[in-house]
Formats: sequence, structure tokens, C-alpha cells
Amino acid sequence: MLDSNCIFCKIINHEIPSKLIYDDNDFMAILDVAPATKGHVLILPKEHAATLIDLSDDKASKILVLAKKIIAAMIKVHGFNNYNIVQNNGKLAGQTVDHLHLHLIPRYSIDEVGLWTPHENDPSVTDELAKKVHDLIQN
Ligand code: AMP
Ligand code: ZN
Repeated sequence: MLDSNCIFCKIINHEIPSKLIYDDNDFMAILDVAPATKGHVLILPKEHAATLIDLSDDKASKILVLAKKIIAAMIKVHGFNNYNIVQNNGKLAGQTVDHLHLHLIPRYSIDEVGLWTPHENDPSVTDELAKKVHDLIQN
């Protein structure tokens, strides 16, 4: 199902132009209009899902396999060796378009892409949280 108010649904529906990289029944991949680095690609599932937990298991299980295929082609064309695969969920995480998408971002020796700053770990909190999450999934 597509959402008529969603910019990525409009791209999938060809109502808004895009630079197409890949297209099949389940996904479209396009060039990012404001690339973090040269060649930055977005993979869009052809179902409107805001974040990862909203995405069907079928599409979720296929999207990383497709990412591998597209990255391999990008490496051949652009000649980079390093890349980030980024997927933002929610405003606080940097998501600006509420239609799940995977960023495929080539990395070059001089680029200005920042990720996150590591902080000191608190092992007691980590153990407690790990157990709670584990118990929710596995018990
Ligand atoms: P995010 O911040 O993870 O939601 O990423 C949204 C991405 O979509 C940004 O990198 C934007 O540059 C990109 N974007 C927004 N509108 C378009 C568009 N019409 N065509 C291609 N990329 C877009
Ligand atoms: Zn959408």
C-alpha cells in the first residue's frame, strides 16, 4: 500500500522524478537528491512502512540482500572500498522521510560524514537491559 502524502510513495508511483538505480516488484533504488558522498543511493521498499518494525518480514528479509547487490555494482563503478549502510528510524534518529529506506553511502578518504561519538559504558545498566530485552524475545 502506498501513501498519497508520502514523497517516496510519489517517487515509487512516478509522480515525482528520480534517478533510478534499480527497480523490481518489491523495491526501487534511487540516487539521493542531497548525497552525503558521491554515489549515495537510497533503497525504498514499494510498501509504505514508516520504520523497520512497520515493514513486512518479507521485505525486511530481502532488503539487505538487495543492498549487497547494489553496493557491489557501485563499488565497480565508483571504485570505493568502504561504505556505510544507514537506516534512520524516527525524528530523534535523524529520519526526515517517514517511509523506511536504506542509505548506501560510499566512503572516500576525504569526506565529511560523521556517525556518532562513543560514550563511557556502564556495565551494570548494560547487563540489566540486555537481560530484559533477551527475556522479551526468548521467553
Ligand atoms: P532520512 O534523513 O534518513 O529520512 O533520509 C532521507 C533522505 O532522502 C535524505 O538523504 C534526502 O536527501 C533524501 N531525499 C529527500 N527527498 C528526496 C527526493 N525527492 N529524491 C531523492 N532523495 C530524496
Ligand atoms: Zn511512503
